[in-house]
Amino acid sequence: MASGGGNNRNGTHRNSLKGTTTTSTASTDKPLSVNSNPSKPAFKNKSSPLTGASSGLRKSSPGSLGGGAAKDDAGVPGRVRVAVRLRPRNAEESVADADFADCVELQPELKRLKLRKNNWDTDTYEFDEVLTEFASQKRVYEVAAKPVVEGVLDGYNGTIMAYGQTGTGKTYTLGRLGEEDTANRGIMVRAMEDILAEVSPEIDSVLVSYLQLYMESLQDLLDPTNDNISIVEEPKSGDVSLPGATLVEIRDQQSFLELLRLGEAHRHAANTKLNTESSRSHALLMVHVKRTVKGREPAHSSDNGNSTSMARSLRPPLVRKGKLVVVDLAGSERIDKSGSDGHTREEAKSINLSLSALGKCINALAENSAHVPVRDSKLTRLLRDSFGGTARTSLVITVGPSPRHRGETASTIMFGQRAMKVENMLKLKEEFDYKSLARRLDIQLDKLIMEHERKQKAFEVEIERITAEAQNRISEAERNYADAVEKERLKYQKDYMESIKKLEEKWMMNQQNQGNERKMVHIAEEVAEVKKLLSKETSLRKAAEEEVDNLKSQLAQLKMSEALANSEILKLQKMVEDEVCQKEKLEGEISMLQSQLLHLSFEADETRKRLDRGGPGKVPGGLDSPVSQVRSQLKDSGNGEKASVAKLFEQVGLQKILSLLEAEDADVRIHAVKVVANLAAEETNQQKIVEAGGLKSLLMLLGSSEDETIHRVAAGAIANLAMNEKNQELIMSQGGISLLSTTASHAKDPQTLRMVAGAIANLCGNDKLQTKLRGEGGIKALLEIVKCGHPDVLAQVARGIANFAKCESRASTQGSKTGRSLLIEDGALPWIVQNANSDASPIRRHTELALCHLAQHEVNAKDMISEGALWELVRISQDCPREDIRTLAHRTLASSPDFIAGLKRLQIDY
Ligand code: ADP
Ligand code: MG
Repeated sequence: MASGGGNNRNGTHRNSLKGTTTTSTASTDKPLSVNSNPSKPAFKNKSSPLTGASSGLRKSSPGSLGGGAAKDDAGVPGRVRVAVRLRPRNAEESVADADFADCVELQPELKRLKLRKNNWDTDTYEFDEVLTEFASQKRVYEVAAKPVVEGVLDGYNGTIMAYGQTGTGKTYTLGRLGEEDTANRGIMVRAMEDILAEVSPEIDSVLVSYLQLYMESLQDLLDPTNDNISIVEEPKSGDVSLPGATLVEIRDQQSFLELLRLGEAHRHAANTKLNTESSRSHALLMVHVKRTVKGREPAHSSDNGNSTSMARSLRPPLVRKGKLVVVDLAGSERIDKSGSDGHTREEAKSINLSLSALGKCINALAENSAHVPVRDSKLTRLLRDSFGGTARTSLVITVGPSPRHRGETASTIMFGQRAMKVENMLKLKEEFDYKSLARRLDIQLDKLIMEHERKQKAFEVEIERITAEAQNRISEAERNYADAVEKERLKYQKDYMESIKKLEEKWMMNQQNQGNERKMVHIAEEVAEVKKLLSKETSLRKAAEEEVDNLKSQLAQLKMSEALANSEILKLQKMVEDEVCQKEKLEGEISMLQSQLLHLSFEADETRKRLDRGGPGKVPGGLDSPVSQVRSQLKDSGNGEKASVAKLFEQVGLQKILSLLEAEDADVRIHAVKVVANLAAEETNQQKIVEAGGLKSLLMLLGSSEDETIHRVAAGAIANLAMNEKNQELIMSQGGISLLSTTASHAKDPQTLRMVAGAIANLCGNDKLQTKLRGEGGIKALLEIVKCGHPDVLAQVARGIANFAKCESRASTQGSKTGRSLLIEDGALPWIVQNANSDASPIRRHTELALCHLAQHEVNAKDMISEGALWELVRISQDCPREDIRTLAHRTLASSPDFIAGLKRLQIDY
């Protein structure tokens, strides 16, 4: 809980207004006199104080939120709002307290509560809202909860909380389902109604978890088997999350009511003297609302007004995420009042641990103290954002009227008064939704591809049709032309023959009538007629020629229209090419976004891992293989992360991820190698990675990259892959040892050395590779690495040496190896002896084991004695916590002639 800062500490309490009856003391917890505090609360708004800040915020929201960059905003100040609610007398109180006045008196119009001290004196306090025993549930919701719910819908976190003695109406206020009478519906039900009315089911989401905190253990009310949920805090933003809690998507009010009923059925309630229904646990309802902001241009858009619709669709949607937390706290009464048995007394202590931690934090915040003890309890860790954080918080304190519980009532009131002084800085939670953009673009691309295919098909059909039609018309015209020419030719031939015949006949006749002048005249007439006929024939022929010309021009026209169709086809082909071009561009954008997505997923994975590493109660060094560490990290981070990596694997595809290992962008390369490393930590993926050439690429990266992060992550991945024999052989055959030792010689980060040493250590455990590994300098490399001195690194080296010694010992026993140990040949013995009694237990365990393996074979005994290993063997045989090693050491010492002689010579009493 960051301290709220600001001088505007508005929470005030007032003592008796009448000066004559003032009984205030100097104690800071006691109310101050009205006159001693001249600064009137600035937030005060006669109509509705609890909504005051909210309406101010909402009015300013278009301006302040419009920037879209509100993430880095300092936020809007928002003080914790406190309402007090009085429960009506119940049947028992009406009888038992019949002769006594209520211990409180409310003045709702003045927002004041008077607490009776005795028959003649009262203390007066002011609250943001004073709700009498007649206040309806609807009014309580509207003044205490609605502004918070509206804030959540606008992308702010919000908290609504009830505090008070058991039986004063906390659950009544928050949790009533209103099944018997809808007017009785409590804040949870009404809040969900308002949320569901505002969200759009297609693009927004509402997810709910329901939990209880009981005896400092956090249980899932939607899955009772899940009874130890851990709290994860994001160090930068301070956001608190519960990755282990069940999240249910809510689409309608009915399913929400069923969920509440289910949760209530699981809720643990212990009986107390005060109220058999009351709960001894804290109940927390968390509602995550994610809304897409409609019609908003992102603030950093490079849009200059003439962008295409394509560019617009590349813009990721802007989403706002608000979290509403509704907390029904356990009863605030002191333990002695509960009058319960031993077990319940223990419970009460735990309950009081969380409640008193909450009280301490609120005190510290109210007094602007430098240290706020947030980490003292789970409740305060969960409510980190609600007090002094970025959430809008509304607190309802519930009190009963009975004078018998005056003490509890007074302490509840003081809690409320202090809470009023806590100042939060409300912050908008807004971000771009790249994943949904990528999804949307995929769909759009598929649509375009389909559309393009459809169009291409239609073009082809149309082109075929036009071509066929043109050909038909051409051949028809040609046919017509040929027919017409033939017809004309025949006609002329016939006419011509007839004319000749006629002329011949006439000429014969003329010959017969030669000398006959009369007949001459007649012949002249005949000739004239023939001439006329001839000219008629000529004009007919001309007409036929015209007809032919006409047909010719028709043919030319047809040819032109064919050319036109051809150019149309060319145009269509050009359009098709453009479409293909466009598609390629889109695919480029998609792959860029995928790499961004990869990047973002990585950031998320890394963050989660960092959180897990920093998480409480985790003891490092329990396991000494980096593989098992990676694996345990994966396990710890729960299904969420595993699912996200697996999903990434599916979505992006292994080949794609591996191809990114060679990407030009160094960042992409780093993230890709991290993804591969994460995948390699899962045994089920290892074979696939190796088959797809991933091992080769990782080894190549070791040789080609200069970046230490890449070296570290790649070496870790190789260490994971070096878990099985086949891969070990592959690593060795691809020059793994020399690549790993070069990497080690350049490394500055001990974690890189740890990964390299871990990989070599795994290779050391392969019986078949012993000679090759040593021949290529594997043992020498390990002995170089120890210079770094980091205990995690030394533990890996020790593991490698122990693995090597074990395999070698096995080979010697089977007779396939003779002569001194290769470890001794390569000078490892001094280091082993030096570290055999290391303070770090993993180093000690492995070196002790290595010594025992070496001691098994008499050829090594002389060297061991001269390097001082005898002392260590004696110590191991007496002190080693592992009985099998102790016995082995003892047996070896007792059976080796060289060792027995050595013990005698060194005068070691054994
Ligand atoms: P808590 O949760 O604080 O222990 P409950 O909400 O269980 O208290 O209330 C105790 C009893 O008082 C219940 O029977 C409840 O119906 C009744 N009650 C509480 N507040 C009111 C109210 N404002 N009007 C009527 N009955 C109330
Ligand atoms: Mg209750």
